[in-house]
Amino acid sequence: MPELPEVETIRSRLAPLVEGRTLRALDVLDAKWCEPLDPAALQDALVGRPVVRLGRRGKYLVWEASDDVFLLMHLRMTGTLLYDAPPGTLYVRVLLGLDDGHVLSFCDPRRFGTGELVLGEPALDAFFAARLGVEPLSEQFTAEHLYRLTRNRRAPIKALLLDQRRVAGVGNIYANEALFRAAIHPLREAGKLNRRQIEALHAAVVAALRAGIDAGGASIDDFRHPDGVSGAFQNEFLVHGRAGEPCEVCGGMLVKFVAAGRGTYACERCQPRPRPRRRR
Ligand SMILES: [Zn+2]
Repeated sequence: MPELPEVETIRSRLAPLVEGRTLRALDVLDAKWCEPLDPAALQDALVGRPVVRLGRRGKYLVWEASDDVFLLMHLRMTGTLLYDAPPGTLYVRVLLGLDDGHVLSFCDPRRFGTGELVLGEPALDAFFAARLGVEPLSEQFTAEHLYRLTRNRRAPIKALLLDQRRVAGVGNIYANEALFRAAIHPLREAGKLNRRQIEALHAAVVAALRAGIDAGGASIDDFRHPDGVSGAFQNEFLVHGRAGEPCEVCGGMLVKFVAAGRGTYACERCQPRPRPRRRR
């Protein structure tokens, strides 16, 4: 699933191509994409408006059109936005036409991606306030913030990192990579991590996300850049998808297990497994 670095890669590459352009067409080929909204209502709200800014919040791509009309796209499992997709491109669910003749295709084999319309800045703030926590590459995300988020939390730290209402944009890959970088086992109880560990984890989350962005995201599943090129971060994974391979730090064998319901990769020598809780 595209996570923050993948969505940010799409945003940064598309922004110069769409900002200042006017939306000339919006063809929803699969009405499930914008349910329960009628595709015609979406067209009425957006077609003819200039794109003021292409932004991102968590894993949402935020199209800001004139007069504070917002189209929020979530790519979910397999969504990709292609700029002038080659003829014969499969799984196209939505087409966005620009006034310069270029066309964006939203391709999504699994059909979990969504498009939502939000009118006005206050409604946008409310939308995200209800769904997303701190933006991890913003100034608000500090070690102190993460420390406060984890206090009195008995959930495994990995589950907390994956909870979009606490930290926005981190998914399975970047949680695995960050926990390894911080030498913290994914099943450690969040509230039991000390300040030093939280500081290491904070730095590791930022470092993993930045490394992902620098590599143009990770192309597993169907993620591609708007020009169809793949990201390269999958070649730099330290642990994700590497069960049975040696740990780059200690040489021990990386393992896979389930944590927070997701395929989890770790080095249990560098990231010692928590001892089972003693029964009283
Ligand atoms: Zn190791």
